[in-house]
Amino acid sequence: MIFKKEKLRRTITITKDARDGILTYCKMNHPNEGILILRGKSKKGNVVVDGLVIPPFSHHGPTFAGFPHSFLPFDPSYVGTVHSHPSGSAKPSVTDLHNFFGFVSLIVQSPYEDDDIFAYDRDGNLLEITISSDEL
Ligand SMILES: [Zn+2]
Repeated sequence: MIFKKEKLRRTITITKDARDGILTYCKMNHPNEGILILRGKSKKGNVVVDGLVIPPFSHHGPTFAGFPHSFLPFDPSYVGTVHSHPSGSAKPSVTDLHNFFGFVSLIVQSPYEDDDIFAYDRDGNLLEITISSDEL
């Protein structure tokens, strides 16, 4: 999937298992937002997501699902977060950018199908996502 022809700062690779886990979690939390921590690694601008962690202090609500970052244990395998937008628009809000964590922020818009995941960098730029079916 190519979203932009401009120079991309990062590429995002998500394993199929992680992608399916994200979509299931978002559907479970609907109509509230759900949020997960992305596990993986970042190498030379390519972020690989191959695991998901449920945040220990997450709160759920119809407007924003978040967690206080100061409570997060420092873990170099945490590469970002993913959260859902039950409203159906994947556009990052000001709050989303303010709460940016790690290298990438994924936003999943309702109805949470395969093409409803979007990746953004810290500045709110759309990034290209590759789904990998292989073990990484
Ligand atoms: Zn949001």
